[in-house]
Amino acid sequence: MQQVKYKRTLLKLSGEALMGDSQHIFDKPTIDGILTQIKQLNLLGIKIGIVIGGGNIFRGINGTQFGLKPANADYMGILATVMNGIALKDFLNHIGVKTYLYSAVPIGDIVKGYNRDNMLDKLDVNSVVIFAGGVGHPFFTTDSGAALRAIEMNADLLIKATKVDGVYNVDPKTHTNAQKYTKLSFDEAMHKNLKIMDMAAFDLCRTHKVNIGVCNIFQANALYDMVIGNSQGTLIHV
Ligand code: UDP
Repeated sequence: MQQVKYKRTLLKLSGEALMGDSQHIFDKPTIDGILTQIKQLNLLGIKIGIVIGGGNIFRGINGTQFGLKPANADYMGILATVMNGIALKDFLNHIGVKTYLYSAVPIGDIVKGYNRDNMLDKLDVNSVVIFAGGVGHPFFTTDSGAALRAIEMNADLLIKATKVDGVYNVDPKTHTNAQKYTKLSFDEAMHKNLKIMDMAAFDLCRTHKVNIGVCNIFQANALYDMVIGNSQGTLIHV
């Protein structure tokens, strides 16, 4: 087995990743593939935090088209991430991965509020921790939540798991000659104006020196390849 390069990892999983190519909020075969990858890392003793998005259920931007106030639409988006968090915890527990769920906005008896000391203790004993609720405020995204929690758990890598297998110079869906970067510094990515995460999140990672790995979560072993430093995706480094 290869040497593990990144031993503390924050995985940013978008809500869309849970849909696969389906039109439903969850596509179980797709989710099972993701769970297998997370379990593989957990068995290697890698400390894993997961920030879960909510885009498969609701995004704030969708609410404003019905005349909702932006902040209220974002609150609904935050609740969507909590719903996904509940499901993801259940799915992981079901395959024998001890998992704790925290929400930036506690929901009564349903989901505990986030507590950093408690979270670090759970990581120490090799539990997977899920962070729902983003940063807990409207006008943010779960990308910002991912950057924040990566810093708080002292992660050495933030994995942005997407449907695309890395960062390209132009959109590979519309340009057949698009070229993928294997490695980029934060400065190069900024200079080239590449869209990797939202700016607030990107800047937090840059300031706190958290590397970002971009990979296609639908490829087998994508997460494992990332943590051993042998990914076909893109690494944005300090
Ligand atoms: N959201 C928010 N504050 C946060 C995180 C999320 O208001 O800190 C809301 C926002 O409306 C967003 C929605 O929750 O559209 C779902 O999050 P996101 O779009 O980041 O999910 P993803 O695209 O990763 O599935």
